[in-house]
Amino acid sequence: MKCPACDKPMTSARENYNYSACGLPHVTLKGVEVRRCGECGEHEVVIPRMTELHQAIAMAVVTKKARLTAAEVKFLRKHLAWSGADFARHMGVAPETVSRWENGREPMGAVADRLLRLMVVTQAPKPGYAIAALAELEDEPAPARLKLAADRSGWHTEPVAA
Ligand SMILES: [Zn+2]
Repeated sequence: MKCPACDKPMTSARENYNYSACGLPHVTLKGVEVRRCGECGEHEVVIPRMTELHQAIAMAVVTKKARLTAAEVKFLRKHLAWSGADFARHMGVAPETVSRWENGREPMGAVADRLLRLMVVTQAPKPGYAIAALAELEDEPAPARLKLAADRSGWHTEPVAA
């Protein structure tokens, strides 16, 4: 295939790909096809089953123990297909509050953090999600570090050392 930028041929290889384009900095996709242009450095990645992938990421984020980061709040809000105004209405806060949560100027409180997790789980029910786990959540935010691999049955998260 040809490079969309300079029209030179691209080479294709399987790589572990940092999927920061999803808005989260520590998400790695295992062994996906990446096409690179040796001429201009352009690359494109082939991601199968995008909807399932985003569902797997969202579930991994809402089941982690650390408080949600600003980037994760934004990722989950977009996963719910809500505008900032929609999200504010559902959470019962001012739109400016949503902006501050998402740009990191104001940390999301413990109650709002739990409510957002439950909204995501309720939207796409996850078997085995235990409400009791909410009691185990930590106060400090830390980003989810994820490694995901696809097989025939879908995308699966693998543990990553922090
Ligand atoms: Zn190129």
